[in-house]
Amino acid sequence: MSIETNLKNILSQIPAPTRLVAVSKTHPIELILEAYNCGQRIFGESKAQDVNIKQQQLPKDIEWHFIGHLQTNKIKYIAPFASLIHSVDSLNLLAAINKEAIKCNRVIDCLLQIHIAQEETKFGFDFLELTQLLESAAYNSLKNIRICGIMGMATLTDDEIQIRKEFKLLHSYFVEIKNTYFKNESSFKEISMGMSDDYKIAIEEGSTLVRVGSAIFGNRNYSN
Ligand SMILES: *Cc1c(COP(=O)(O)O)cnc(C)c1O
Repeated sequence: MSIETNLKNILSQIPAPTRLVAVSKTHPIELILEAYNCGQRIFGESKAQDVNIKQQQLPKDIEWHFIGHLQTNKIKYIAPFASLIHSVDSLNLLAAINKEAIKCNRVIDCLLQIHIAQEETKFGFDFLELTQLLESAAYNSLKNIRICGIMGMATLTDDEIQIRKEFKLLHSYFVEIKNTYFKNESSFKEISMGMSDDYKIAIEEGSTLVRVGSAIFGNRNYSN
């Protein structure tokens, strides 16, 4: 299967306004260009230094989304150009992003990552922590970040009922946070959920951004 065939097939299953983030982490710029030449413009990466290099080498109308765990000392590699950071999982990180955004004279769009999976290892806030963050003076003083929605990852399982339950939960969190904290803010609109194995369920449950990697580019080889 070619990247073009894979992309067409996936895009045919994504109804507007849901958008596709083509997760290109670990893949070389040649493959990204192949997807770009099919019209894909949003790419997702999870390593700050990697995306910094790719951004320099690839067309400037690409929207780079950062989807991985971000360390505060790596923010500087993505702050000048990142169009959305999906994976904000602490107030400390958000404040550090704000600081780098000021240096770049930008407002950086961010999503708050919520822990919905059964695994202990996945990063993210629980719902209470999230409301505490949104009510804190520290958060409300940050002027160079903008919260555009939430992100979550379902449990790694074949159990579709479990996955659907987790996406439904994330959607319900979105609605509650929107109504409580962002009622009149049209920019708070994103629910980033769904990957190669579960994006169809995610779309049915209200995803606005699906993050699909291996179903487009094939398996990742982490050794290169
Ligand atoms: C790697 C990654 C993806 C893409 O995973 P696939 O299963 O290859 O589609 C999506 N979201 C996050 C946060 C990732 O790290």
